[in-house]
Amino acid sequence: MMWYRPQAFVLGGSGKAQLRVRGLSAGYGPFEVIRQLNFDVLPGLTVILGPNGAGKTTLLRALSGQIPMRGEVLLDGEDLPEKAHEIVKAGMALVPEGRQLFPQMTVLENLELGGWLQKPNIRQERLEMVLQDFPKLRERATQLAGTMSGGEQQMVAIARAMMSAPRLLMLDEPSLGLAPRMVDELLAMTRRIADQGTTVLMVEQNVRKALAVAYVIERGVLVAHGSSKLLARSSVIQEAYLGAAASDTRTASQALEKTVRST
Ligand code: ATP
Repeated sequence: MMWYRPQAFVLGGSGKAQLRVRGLSAGYGPFEVIRQLNFDVLPGLTVILGPNGAGKTTLLRALSGQIPMRGEVLLDGEDLPEKAHEIVKAGMALVPEGRQLFPQMTVLENLELGGWLQKPNIRQERLEMVLQDFPKLRERATQLAGTMSGGEQQMVAIARAMMSAPRLLMLDEPSLGLAPRMVDELLAMTRRIADQGTTVLMVEQNVRKALAVAYVIERGVLVAHGSSKLLARSSVIQEAYLGAAASDTRTASQALEKTVRST
């Protein structure tokens, strides 16, 4: 059985949530990591691509209120609130890098925590919907989260985020460290969440499979933008990110410099 019910998701959203980001900068103390980013997250699936240390996690941390940011961020035309819990209430949820589950708590307890901002009766309703869409989690409800495999924990982390009924779901490298079959299932699932009406913004290296709009970030700034299918066809992007890399090429801009130098 798959981890989620591939047909007829009951967790559909409005299908319209959009994020408009203009001049976004954020970092840690005096160290500015992302600088003046402009991009739009439209309904469907948007992927952020970039090498290690480019600022992808920092971007998602800023958008989820974990670190301060400067610039304009509008969720469906409304200013994004500053505080993390207000951002969740406004309809944006994050599945963080490394899942960040409570390992000593059961699957069910982890899920319930995802709905902590909701009234108990709504939380119960939502839990039922999540368990319908993730039938395997019902079977594992009493298992301690820390005893699950990486892929299983990732599903719990996504289901936990869905407990807050987000209009826009952010995922930070969900396929990191997972077996290829699990990666396929996970990407199919995020695709389906997007198709069913919850806008998805995902940091992901498996862009070829993710079929989405993609933005490439390097050293905190945007360097490319397009459909992931088109980007995957670009030799520069392929060389930098998609496995065709020469060992000395680490970023799209380095690959670009190399191409220019060799022509
Ligand atoms: P990766 O793919 O390796 O996760 P990333 O693109 O997500 O990389 P970030 O984790 O956002 O990159 O890191 C961007 C930069 O910010 C790096 O130089 C990193 O060292 C720095 N950084 C990250 N977290 C902190 C922190 N808590 N304090 C200070 N600097 C940090």
